[in-house]
Amino acid sequence: MRLDEVCNANLYETNVYAMLGLEVGATPRMVRRRGEDLEGVHMQGRIAWRRECGRILLGQRPDPTLQDVKEALVKVTKYPECAQTDAFFWFWPAAAGSDDHALRHLQSGKRDLAFECWKKTADGAEEESAVIARHNLAVLFHLYALDAEKRRLAGRVECQSDSFLNVLDGFWTRAIGEWTALFNRESLWRVFSEMVRRANDPRLKEDFITSFRLRLPAALGSIIAQFLAAYEREGRTDDAKRHFGYLEKILNSAEARGEAIRGAYASEMRKTEMLLANCGKDHLPHEWLDDVKVLLADCRPLVESLTTFARGADQSINDFLDGLASICHSRVRDYVQRCGGHSDALETETYLLSIATSASLRREIEGEIGKLREVIQAEREKNTCWYCKRYQNMMPKFSVMLYKTTDNKETDTINVPVCDGCRGRFSLDTVADYPEIRKKLDSGWSLT
Ligand SMILES: [Zn+2]
Repeated sequence: MRLDEVCNANLYETNVYAMLGLEVGATPRMVRRRGEDLEGVHMQGRIAWRRECGRILLGQRPDPTLQDVKEALVKVTKYPECAQTDAFFWFWPAAAGSDDHALRHLQSGKRDLAFECWKKTADGAEEESAVIARHNLAVLFHLYALDAEKRRLAGRVECQSDSFLNVLDGFWTRAIGEWTALFNRESLWRVFSEMVRRANDPRLKEDFITSFRLRLPAALGSIIAQFLAAYEREGRTDDAKRHFGYLEKILNSAEARGEAIRGAYASEMRKTEMLLANCGKDHLPHEWLDDVKVLLADCRPLVESLTTFARGADQSINDFLDGLASICHSRVRDYVQRCGGHSDALETETYLLSIATSASLRREIEGEIGKLREVIQAEREKNTCWYCKRYQNMMPKFSVMLYKTTDNKETDTINVPVCDGCRGRFSLDTVADYPEIRKKLDSGWSLT
């Protein structure tokens, strides 16, 4: 299991140490016994369960059910890397030998006091204590941020105000600041390695710490990308943009951000590719344009998000966008060849041009747009009165006969659009300047 695959917005809610009210570093035996205790408490009824859950360090979420607890126990006993990941994303006890005021404050529900303790220690001179305190501040603010963000995303009325947003943004800024400062702080990884070593689980891979450290920024980024996608799905663009801002702070490279965004949209991208494979299939040509329009409407939030936040950052995102534009484009072109409908097709091709990424596809679509415009323009001229320049559907036409001057035998007919109101202005003199006629007159043809 890769770290960024297990990281989601419920990181802290499903954390086994949070759920069981256990300290990080608890032995497997302590974990098991705590599980059994909780089962016993559950048998005593709801009030006892609530009281017991009150001891758990995370306040703002529904009480876990017995099922939740059982699942968490299975998770950490079956997957040692999950147990260590949960340990990483929970409050660490103070360095050996120092009194752990902060954890005790937290256990008695006094988060603010715990915060003050850690803040003081984090700025202290003793490196190991300082890094543990800083790590715990990162966890605390990250937990606050996720908790508040989920309530905002869920549409809770009290979480939509500007003042709430300010507080929420403060949590994120603080959490991201603390985490990024920790990425390369060697003492953090020493403390964590020691913690993992003490767990002494032979099933853990040797490179666990190395790969965990390598994947940590991406894992934190993936949680943010998931919020970005969730807001975008609801059309809440400002909130999506805010999360892109966080993503930029945690992941330096465009590639890494692209990968995080791709991860958040993986299932929608797969679904779109499936729809694309079937677009227009078993349908008649006159339905093809509508098929493309339905498909594009369906994946519009996905496409807008990818083009806004990740185009150019990630090759597979580029390929996805190009694939989408390319297949839709050929469907539309085939439709036009068989059924006309140029104006409708122009609108869709213009949109496809905004999706297409590669230069060759863009050129191809631009060429098609040029052709469509010419046809539309010619169509328009055919229905525009030659005299008053008024446009009208099905403009009446005057047929004008021309003769080839050399033999007077060969003839040609040109239809001149003339509205009912201008009919009186028609004469062979006045119509001689109609471009098509003028061209003929200049090349050896005459009107009489
Ligand atoms: Zn007219």
